[in-house]
Amino acid sequence: MSSEHGAILTRYRQVLAEIEQAAHSVDRDPESIKLVVVTKGHPIQAVKEALASGLRVFGENYVQEGITKMKACSDQIGVEWHMIGHVQSRKAQPVCEHYSWVHSLDRIKLANRLDRFAGQIGRKLPVLLECNVSGEDSKYGWPAWEEQSWINLADSISQLLRLSNLDVRGLMTMAPFLPQAEQARPYFQRLRRLRDFLALQFPQNNWHELSMGMSADFQVAVQEGATIVRIGTAIMGPRPD
Ligand SMILES: *Cc1c(COP(=O)(O)O)cnc(C)c1O
Repeated sequence: MSSEHGAILTRYRQVLAEIEQAAHSVDRDPESIKLVVVTKGHPIQAVKEALASGLRVFGENYVQEGITKMKACSDQIGVEWHMIGHVQSRKAQPVCEHYSWVHSLDRIKLANRLDRFAGQIGRKLPVLLECNVSGEDSKYGWPAWEEQSWINLADSISQLLRLSNLDVRGLMTMAPFLPQAEQARPYFQRLRRLRDFLALQFPQNNWHELSMGMSADFQVAVQEGATIVRIGTAIMGPRPD
């Protein structure tokens, strides 16, 4: 066992313990929270070490970087790869072919293309709608920082829900980078309220999933109802540059 393997396993267990503690603090079942380990920026060797530690669910931001890692690890079974980064429309086909989930569905054009390619290969693709709940220019996502304007999303979302090869499971967000994790709380609360709003507007769809929380703020996200956390640095270590 290389020392880095040991380090990934140690940090993974620490993060699991912290998820458990945060869940218990609000009477949630820790088993209801899925952990996506974000391997973007890390080499194949690091992913192999994570696999050797028993990790099976990975998140990548760049389509091709993720596919290269998948191919290098194709001897492993039961591995899931989640696309969590911005997807260019021209990359919709490889995303559909290789990834288990897309967390970053942020526009109709991409939805239409993902739906078309998913149909061609006969699959139904689980997707989350990425929402910008902070209003920062740097963020992708459906504009959702003003609660009074949520109703304006309804047209796009009803179009999305008609795409029969996409399975809309819920919402995803990134909180702003702030000095204290606690400062992310209002943004997680807003995403959850938006989810509740959409569940009322579109009760025919299941809006269960809330993908929110990263290394710096996942405990707060879990307290606010995250069903999926996306954690890189706290498990994999700092990204090499
Ligand atoms: C990089 C990234 C993460 C993980 O970030 P860490 O701070 O390393 O945990 C989560 N989600 C998205 C969308 C990311 O780009």
